[in-house]
Amino acid sequence: MQNICILGATGSIGQSTIDVVLRHPDLYQVYALTAHSQIDKLLEQAKLCQPKYLVLSNGASYQHAKQALLASGIKTELLSGAQALADVASAHEVDVVMAAIVGGAGLLPTIAAVKAGKKVLLANKESLVMSGELFINAAKEHGATILPIDSEHNAIFQCLPHDYQYGDLASCGISSILLTGSGGPFRETPLNRLSEMTPAQACAHPNWDMGQKISVDSATMMNKGLEFIEARWLFGLQTSDIKVVLHPQSIIHSMVQYCDGSVLAQMGNPDMRTPIAHGLAFPKRIDSGVKPLDFQTVSNFSFDEPEPQRYPNLYLAIEASDAGQYATTALNAANEVAVAAFLSGQIGFSQIAQVNQQCVAQMQGCQLDDINAIVEWDKECRSQAQQIISSYSR
Ligand code: NDP
Ligand code: MG
Repeated sequence: MQNICILGATGSIGQSTIDVVLRHPDLYQVYALTAHSQIDKLLEQAKLCQPKYLVLSNGASYQHAKQALLASGIKTELLSGAQALADVASAHEVDVVMAAIVGGAGLLPTIAAVKAGKKVLLANKESLVMSGELFINAAKEHGATILPIDSEHNAIFQCLPHDYQYGDLASCGISSILLTGSGGPFRETPLNRLSEMTPAQACAHPNWDMGQKISVDSATMMNKGLEFIEARWLFGLQTSDIKVVLHPQSIIHSMVQYCDGSVLAQMGNPDMRTPIAHGLAFPKRIDSGVKPLDFQTVSNFSFDEPEPQRYPNLYLAIEASDAGQYATTALNAANEVAVAAFLSGQIGFSQIAQVNQQCVAQMQGCQLDDINAIVEWDKECRSQAQQIISSYSR
């Protein structure tokens, strides 16, 4: 029986994780569930999962949540605040941590799980983008196992040879990693209309049902940019090792190309329960509840290249990944601020890339030697991005 801590339980990945876990009561039990502000949803989940702890990261709602918990009669302990997140993620009773908080808020609890040597199911790509080498070195030093949950990285992981050595493509005969992406809801929108696109349109992803932030990132393809950086760190890749391929049907989740001409692809219906179940059970397989792929209905596979004018964020991310840690942390920070400003109607869709580009250009190189330096740099970059946004309305 494995004890699981689900960080970001009330989100899209968190809910899919609970769905898979509850299918296997003989294998998994829930130790802790965390949320930021959705108290009712958290209590509903607590009824189903009976965790030892609930954590509400937003301390301001603690009293309200405490009363709601008392009224519900659910027997569990309620904690709150940032330290409580790190505590449940690193508790000695915990075997597996699902890192599914959205954005930079996931960094510290995910790092806490890594430093406690846990099996970490990594959905929160932003934490790896923000801290890259420090994250990977901490995993090595503390014996943590990082299993990729992002569907593309999970697909790559499944298509790599079992004896793959970090960063050594040549000795396994790998010629490239093909990172696929759907191109999002605006793949065919005339370029001159992109600036008019609304948050509701940006969040209406054609194939995946996800949280708001990653949905907007998919529309700008910043998501693929973050995934490019994520892939470099997870598998030890160079920029030239990765090719981004548009595949609008989202059936192939990524591929590995070998020097003998073979291409291995991982396929499946676009449902995150597949990579979640893979990560949970690895190296075994368990039922995920996902419908099997029906090749009678998915016969039209197509592939294309992402246009730079349509997806400037993708290319900004690739440049940042070559510039170094200061640039990827800055880009991630700027993007979180810009996406929030877009969702609240402060800036237009095309201005997201503008904010990102300006912020990275203005925040020039610095050395980031530990997690505290990353957290400080992230704050400075967020504040710079806010200033850039304010300057637009002046
Ligand atoms: P959601 O927005 O659906 O959920 C986010 C979760 O994080 C919620 O539980 C939310 O709590 C919690 N949260 C929000 N803000 C904070 C904060 N400041 N501190 C602590 N917790 C917070 O996101 P997704 O599930 O879509 O995505 C989660 C992560 O997984 C992201 O990093 C994303 O990139 C990655 N991912 C997601 C995929 C998907 O299909 N959704 C696919 C691949 C990767 P509350 O609900 O209370 O607000
Ligand atoms: Mg993905």
